[in-house]
This record gives sequence, C-alpha cells and structure tokens, in this order.
Amino acid sequence: MNDGIIPYSSTAHQIANDFLANQLDIDELYNFYISRVNKNKAKTNSLTFFSDELVHAQLKQLKQLKEIAKKDDLPLAGVPIIIKDNIVDRDMPTSCGSRMLEGFRSGYDATVVQKLREAGAIIFAKANCDEFAMGSTNEHSYFGSVKNPWDVTKVPGGSSGGSAAAVAHDLAPVSIGSDTGGSIRQPASFCGIFGLKPTYGRVSRYGLVAFASSLDQVGPFARNVKDLALTYDVIKGFDEKDSTSVRSINESSCFDELGAMTDLKGLKLGCVVELRDSKLKPDLKKAYLNACDQLKKLGAKVVDISIPSLSNAVAAYYVLASAEAASNLARYDGVRYGYSGNDVDNIDDLYKSSRSQGFGKEVKQRIMLGTFVQSMGYYSSYYGKAEKYRNLMKEEFKQAFTEVDLLISPTCLSTAFKLGEKNKDPLEAYLTDIATVSANLVGIPALSMPIGFDDQNLPVGMQLMGPWYQESMILQAAYQYEQKNNYWHSRTPSI
Ligand code: GLN
Repeated sequence: MNDGIIPYSSTAHQIANDFLANQLDIDELYNFYISRVNKNKAKTNSLTFFSDELVHAQLKQLKQLKEIAKKDDLPLAGVPIIIKDNIVDRDMPTSCGSRMLEGFRSGYDATVVQKLREAGAIIFAKANCDEFAMGSTNEHSYFGSVKNPWDVTKVPGGSSGGSAAAVAHDLAPVSIGSDTGGSIRQPASFCGIFGLKPTYGRVSRYGLVAFASSLDQVGPFARNVKDLALTYDVIKGFDEKDSTSVRSINESSCFDELGAMTDLKGLKLGCVVELRDSKLKPDLKKAYLNACDQLKKLGAKVVDISIPSLSNAVAAYYVLASAEAASNLARYDGVRYGYSGNDVDNIDDLYKSSRSQGFGKEVKQRIMLGTFVQSMGYYSSYYGKAEKYRNLMKEEFKQAFTEVDLLISPTCLSTAFKLGEKNKDPLEAYLTDIATVSANLVGIPALSMPIGFDDQNLPVGMQLMGPWYQESMILQAAYQYEQKNNYWHSRTPSI
C-alpha cells in the first residue's frame, strides 16, 4: 500500500469486514494512515493531537480483542476514527480548541468513545474545532484555523471543522463531531462529505464538554452513507450517565436497513421554501434544484412546504445557546482545572485573569450575550421570548411532518467562504446558520449530504431533516441518492 492507492478508497465497513475475515493486513493499513497523517496533517491543521505510539498500543489490544470477541460485537474492527477535541478520551488531551483547557486530560472516556472502542475502533486522533464548539468557520481555535482540503484558502466550516476536513482529506474514513446549531452538517457540506446530527437524546452527551446542553448532540462524519450508518449504530443508545438520554426507542440497525428501499417511491419530501427562495447564489441553487430533480427521478414526490418560524430561528438560537453557554462555562474559574491566571492577589482577580486570558474573543462574546439575556429586567424580553419561539417552532415542525416524510433544504446558503471573510462582523457569521439551527431547537435528526460543486469547484450540501427518531429513514433516502450520485470515485481534494 502506498499513498497513491489507498486514499479515498478505504471505507470503514470494508476495513472492519476484511480485518475480521483475515483479509487485511492491519499493520500495513496503519502504516499507511500514520504516514499519511504525519505527511499531511499540517496542510489543513485539522488535528490537535496525534500519537503513533498510542495508535500502536491500541492496535495491540485490538488484536487480542479480535481473538476473544464475537465478530458481530466488532462492527468497527480496526477502523481509525478521529474524535472532535471537545469529547473526552482517557488517553489523549481534550482542549476544546481553547487555551483554557490546553493540555487538559480527563482520565476517562466519553460514552461515545467507550462504545467505539468496544466496537473495535481505534481512537486515532483528536480533531481541531472552534473554541468550545462556538463558531461556523473553525477560525476560533486557540490552535489556529483549519483549512478546507478542497481549497486551503477557504474555511472548512465549523465548529467541527477539523473532524470534517480530516475525513474529506482521508486522514481517516470516519470522525465524530458535535452539533449544537449545525456544527456537523455545515462543515460536512463545506467539505463535501456526509454528516449526521441525531435526534436530541439519541447519542449520549456524557463526556462531551457542554456548550448548550439542551441543543448539543454528538454525531458521525463519513464519505459514504454506509459508514455513517454503521458508526451511528455503534454510538447511539440509552446511557444512564446522561440524564437527557432517551430510553427504549427502536434499536434496529440503520446499517442493516439501508437497503430497505430500492427507490424513493412513496416518499414525500417537503422542500422548505424559506430556504430555497432565500439568497442562494445561482450556481448553488442550480446544484440544489438538480438534486431535487434526482430525488424525483428516484421516485420521491417533492412538494413545497413553508415553515414561517424559520425567519427568527437564528435569533432564538443565539439567545438560548449563549444563555446556556454562559452558565456552562462558569465552571472555568482557574481554580479546579484548566488555565489559571498568575500574579493575582485575591480570588476575584484569579477569576478575572484566568477567564480573560483563558478564553478567546468569540467565547467571551457569547458569555456576555448569554449573561445579558438572562439578567433581571431583560429575561422575559429575550430568553423567555426565545423559549416561546422554540415551542412555536416545534409545533410547526410537528405539523410539517404530518404533511411530508422528510424536509429538504440546502445545508448552507453558501459554499465555503474565504478564511477571514466573516471575521469582522460576527452577525454575518451567525446568519449563515439559518438552515441548520432549527433542527437543534426542535431536537429532530438531520443529515447533510454532498450533491455536487459550485462554480469554484467547492462542494455543495443538501440537508435532509426527519421526524424525531427517524434517523433510519433519512439515511435510507441519502443512501438511495448516493447510489446514483457518488462523486468520491472521480473527485477528491488535490492537496
Ligand atoms: N455555528 C453555531 C454557533 O456558533 C453552531 C455551533 C455548533 O453547532 N457547535 O453557535
């Protein structure tokens, strides 16, 4: 195996299958991936931690596990998986892209990490991200901006930009991210890969560093739907360590159900008019409408649908997410763990210096906004109103799903923009989240899939949103589309 043969051809399901069937030289595979990472990681700055030694130690354990475990218990046997740096791992540091937690080690595994290990995966590296997952560009990381592998002058999206860029650049076939307002779907779209935000409560948040607890969800990135479903199946499920984790929901395998549809006949898709008729660039609109046509050709019925409350979704999201962030981030006080300011005389100065030096600009902005909207005299005008708005949105989505099976829209209203372009005006960056935040506010599952390229050869994504707990239906629809429109065989980033 050499650099030219493997990239973009190894899939998670193939690796697991071949390894369990003794048809894959796992050491050879890892020699390839380790050298690929060492050679390429600086090109996009997508990783915050990588250690060959740790990989080799895990490989040793994996080989022992393979001898004793049942094959069915190891659906991800031998698969290298990259984890966003806001999810804790017992062996690697978890920095959340922040100076506040630089070098922090948790000593335990997040439930998702534990589940991946038990399924035979190798926890391969940690991925760069926006600080505490706040951002849409991955420019707000203490460890530097991540670059888009399709064009390194462009952002990869955020906040899980490192997770998306690494998979698009084939530093691993699969990665894990978190999505509070679009942080899996938007970078998936900008980097031309698949990303799934599951239903709220479907994947444990235990060990995910909290940003906005009522919105945060963990989910997978992959270059094909099979790998996405396989990884989702492994990480989903009830966890008593997460109080918002959902019990007793259909646990059938999304991977096994992928082939349940042979076409899309009988599926009714609602094209969200507010997102289609908004300020979409013509080339993007063309790609989107073309994908709608493809879905129709596959047998789906595509109808227009309106969700009027979308107009205020971004405002409601930034009020609620910032309020929750302000509370969650109060724990970083420089006393118990994380960055501690020095040269201080008293406890107040310690808090002040630790927090002002430990947090970056974007995080401070959110803490201030979140504190303001919860302050006396303003609570009902901002936080209270946003909560009411969220309930209204839930009703509108519920109603929509009585009319259609899935909702479709562009994942983003643009493709990847230039690094630095949206730095001056935070509002401009916030407004880019219009298509993604509502799925978090109402808690439904949503997926982004690649549907082509714009005039600058940058990937374009389509979002599929489904009713609560209908991940399998979304994945099946994406799978049908992918079977007819898979560009990964012909087109890959050239860096
Ligand atoms: N872009 C959104 C924000 O900055 C979403 C972030 C996320 O999903 N983690 O809040």
